[in-house]
Amino acid sequence: MTTPHILVAGGGPSGLAAALAAARCGASVTLIEPHPVLGGMGTAGLVNNFCGGYHDRSRFLIGGIFGELRQRMIAAHALYETRRMEPYEPEVYHRTWSEMLAEAGVQTQLGRRLQNLTELPDSRLQVNLDNGSQLLVDGVVDATGDGLIAHMAGVKRQLGRDGDGAVMPVTMCYRFTGLDIEAAAAGWPSHVDPVNGHTRPVYTDPHSGERNFFHSGHSDFIDPLIVQERAAGRLSIPRDHVAVIQGVPGCPGDATVNFGRVFIDDPTDPEQMARAQAAGEAQVHDGIAFFRRCFPGFENIRLVTMARAMGVRQSYQIDGQYRLTAEDCLSQRQFEDVIAQCNYMIDIHEPGSDKTTCQLLPHGTHYDIPWRCLIPRQGPARLIVAGRCISADAGAMASFRVQAPAMAIGEAAGIGIALAAQRGVALADLGHEAVQERLRAVGAVLE
Ligand SMILES: Cc1cc2nc3c(=O)[nH]c(=O)nc-3n(C[C@H](O)[C@H](O)[C@H](O)COP(=O)(O)OP(=O)(O)OC[C@H]3O[C@@H](n4cnc5c(N)ncnc54)[C@H](O)[C@@H]3O)c2cc1C
Repeated sequence: MTTPHILVAGGGPSGLAAALAAARCGASVTLIEPHPVLGGMGTAGLVNNFCGGYHDRSRFLIGGIFGELRQRMIAAHALYETRRMEPYEPEVYHRTWSEMLAEAGVQTQLGRRLQNLTELPDSRLQVNLDNGSQLLVDGVVDATGDGLIAHMAGVKRQLGRDGDGAVMPVTMCYRFTGLDIEAAAAGWPSHVDPVNGHTRPVYTDPHSGERNFFHSGHSDFIDPLIVQERAAGRLSIPRDHVAVIQGVPGCPGDATVNFGRVFIDDPTDPEQMARAQAAGEAQVHDGIAFFRRCFPGFENIRLVTMARAMGVRQSYQIDGQYRLTAEDCLSQRQFEDVIAQCNYMIDIHEPGSDKTTCQLLPHGTHYDIPWRCLIPRQGPARLIVAGRCISADAGAMASFRVQAPAMAIGEAAGIGIALAAQRGVALADLGHEAVQERLRAVGAVLE
């Protein structure tokens, strides 16, 4: 058997897991990522948090590469272990991925974009990069978040939700420093954080002994302040709560923030994104000024950096062999061709509104993500899609879009494409059993 060459487009959580999984299956792998950093939204978007879709509050639902990465991050004191929402240090996250990819022999090209691809009669794919170079590969993983490569190859995709095509708003996340943790501990009222169960926003990480800050979701303290400041014309962000303020592991006093909200029709349109970026940047300064005015311990915070990339929650879903639905998620549906499990809530940041709609799955339950959602219904024989843009309706994607499920989907995609290329078959003919067998062998959780 010759060594197949696989190209992975996109270095977000799904593309990274796909590249690593394919290389560990014996493929020669090239990973292409436009940003100068690995991690996609997890670093370039400053979304430095694993949401709780990988633990159902009684067992881990996601193992494999995600489990391994998580253990490395814990050992590096770069992740607070809570099994719900786990903040991590983004630079260590990038470095950990770099090491894991290098150990597996993945050729990583940062600052590069895949621009075009053509399927040849023998099912190989000719791929053009934006530096003019050309590669001939045996399979491609589209992990661009937008189904961009699939679209170039003629795969149908759908923007946003059914009916009006609306997508969730985009957000410019940021990191600040200068938070006085003890002043926050003394000045913030007690409340139960429904996400992490902390009774106060300042807590002590049991592993490192570090004191740090974490807030997520609605709050009896913050939400009325938002109403008051918006009514007084001092705050312009159209959101009724602060989604996340999370202390950065290893850097007490630093925190990253997910608070802004910019409405957009199509986040893949560069002109719309340029306008959204300007609005998102203005919201960063607005948010920091609000925190300084209103939050104990935040009086002297200052901006360290905005995210390299505007945070995109949703754009296109590809038309795949199966379309996962919100109903499948809420009814905890199990599929014979399961490649990953998920327990994360359906979390919809409402388009055109300051509200967020959440529908939780009960503790101890999950739904399955089927293999067929990764395979385009039409298109090149060896093109697979990973991450948030797999085949699903808007409700289902609002659940599995978080980072750990994205990695689990990516791992399955990487295994599938490597096996199909090694065997010289189309993805549609590979059979999910081969993918499941390998997933089980490498510690993925399927049942
Ligand atoms: C504001 C915000 C807050 C969030 N909060 C959380 C959270 O707290 N916890 C959590 O777990 N998840 C969170 N998420 C969700 C999560 O970050 C994303 O859904 C997840 O990163 C999706 O992974 P992905 O690999 O599919 O895509 P992405 O992370 O979007 O990665 C796609 C990659 O493809 C690259 N790419 C694009 N075009 C090309 C091309 N032509 N060639 C090559 N590469 C290309 C991009 O540069 C990017 O790096 C949040 C998302 C947002 C936007």
